Amino acid sequence: GEVREILTWERFGEATRELAQQIVDSGYEPDVMLSITRGGLLPAGAIAYALDQKNIHIINVEFYTGVDERLPAPVFLPPLPATNYLDGRSVLIIDDVADTGETLRSVRNFCDEHASESRTAVLYEKPRSLIACDYVWKRTDEWIAFPWSSLPPLRNTTRLDN
Ligand code: 5GP
Repeated sequence: GEVREILTWERFGEATRELAQQIVDSGYEPDVMLSITRGGLLPAGAIAYALDQKNIHIINVEFYTGVDERLPAPVFLPPLPATNYLDGRSVLIIDDVADTGETLRSVRNFCDEHASESRTAVLYEKPRSLIACDYVWKRTDEWIAFPWSSLPPLRNTTRLDN
């Protein structure tokens, strides 16, 4: 697990602005945004401001347990999101990276059961991704260090049950 691609906070700001511009230029005006937690949270926040979009939802998916170490399949963590906000509406799904693409595919499939249209936006897409995202800032096949997760946590007490 050697880090090759390093995204700084400053580049993150430029990247989300450019990604939002792609979305605007495409003419897509999603009714809602859906952020995949946790990696999509900061991109979604920055893009929401750039698009002047206040309707943001979150879905909590776990897949990675370490650098390139994955669970057998992506798992939706509780609480499962309500789906009424998706019914008949267009959604923009946001994540940090489509690596294998399994996380985004599972969320897109979930959305497509309810939404009228779904599109995906990521900072990075890797060549092996099994879905082609609609909006991509940069392509790489390296392991990426994101600014929000490049420092070790101050404590190791991740709790998902509270
Ligand atoms: P996928 O399901 O596309 O394989 O990966 C989904 C999630 O795994 C991403 O949202 C991200 O949280 C994590 N992930 C995958 N590749 C990388 C990477 O290169 N660097 C980091 N920091 N996380 C990654």
